Amino acid sequence: MARPLIAEIDLDALRHNYRLACECAPESRSVAVIKADAYGHGAVACARALEDIAPAFAVACIEEAVTLREGGITAPIVLLEGIFTADELALVDELGLWMAVHSDWQVEALLAHRPARPIPVWVKVDSGMHRLGFSPERVEAVWQRLSAAAEHARDLHLMSHFATADLEDIGYFERQMARLDSLAQRLGAPLCLANSPATLARPEAHGAWNRPGVMLYGSDPLERPNAVTLRFAPVMTLRSAIIAVRELPAGEPVGYGGRWLTPRPSRIGVVACGYGDGYDRHARDGTPVLVAGKRTAIAGKISMDMLTVDITDIPEADIGSEVVLWGRAANGLVLPVDEVARHCDTISYTLLTGVLPRVPRRYHGQS
Ligand SMILES: *Cc1c(COP(=O)(O)O)cnc(C)c1O
Repeated sequence: MARPLIAEIDLDALRHNYRLACECAPESRSVAVIKADAYGHGAVACARALEDIAPAFAVACIEEAVTLREGGITAPIVLLEGIFTADELALVDELGLWMAVHSDWQVEALLAHRPARPIPVWVKVDSGMHRLGFSPERVEAVWQRLSAAAEHARDLHLMSHFATADLEDIGYFERQMARLDSLAQRLGAPLCLANSPATLARPEAHGAWNRPGVMLYGSDPLERPNAVTLRFAPVMTLRSAIIAVRELPAGEPVGYGGRWLTPRPSRIGVVACGYGDGYDRHARDGTPVLVAGKRTAIAGKISMDMLTVDITDIPEADIGSEVVLWGRAANGLVLPVDEVARHCDTISYTLLTGVLPRVPRRYHGQS
């Protein structure tokens, strides 16, 4: 007796994908990026599953790091945006965190604070993303200052982020890379540059550390799959069931606004999943779904608690039949979250992080 919608998290698949990240970059160490509650998969569960193979984890803010420490995670944790206020330094110190430093005020705060142990620091340079970081002209001075402050900072790395590592056109990536290469040479700095697409496709960006994120969850960030991304295993399966079936003649509208009209006499399955669960309301008619292990499509606008699918060509589908919104069906067929995202004019990241707390997570595999 329960609403059938769950998000199943396959922790063995997570480990498999993490190992692929390491395989892509055997000379680098890979920090597993588990910000935003591990892209919606549950940060503590994911960190526990990776603890024995991942040397460090990365999160966006100190609250996420606290959650991990409270969950018993003892591995190093990097704050990708560093501190947001100077008073966070006491906790950085107490919890043994590593931090990015991207602004002058953060440097001043770090130098004004006397940590019990020097803090590992990743100095962020803006090599062309134009979001966070010191300009290439200024980063040398920051680097020298922190290098001279051994009681405050240790294990300095030069960190940067790519704007276009996922694109086939590598022009802008190469401009960023050229700035980084020359800085790395001047400073003799170990590097931490690569996100998932650069880990997968740009070996020249591999550094002492890489920062794979979305690929750990089995989503392919590249424009075209490569030999590694074809081996990804989906980590999250958003699974529900058919709760009602409608038999309709041709020409009948289905759902709000009557956006979809039955093109023929049709069977419509009503599925317990809607935008109130995080399924994207932008999903167009034709967005793929798996019903009873077969591909079919969304038919009609997404409601808050339900959505409708065309099951005319799946006669065995009935009340109780399995529906997979993305992930792996019981018969093994996979519907990649990336494919669903394209039909919603978005990216896998928003779908995965968008699954709401109303949807129970169920973990299996390594735990
Ligand atoms: C989120 C994030 C990553 C991981 O990016 P993916 O595209 O998910 O691999 C890496 N570095 C930084 C700074 C990030 O914020």
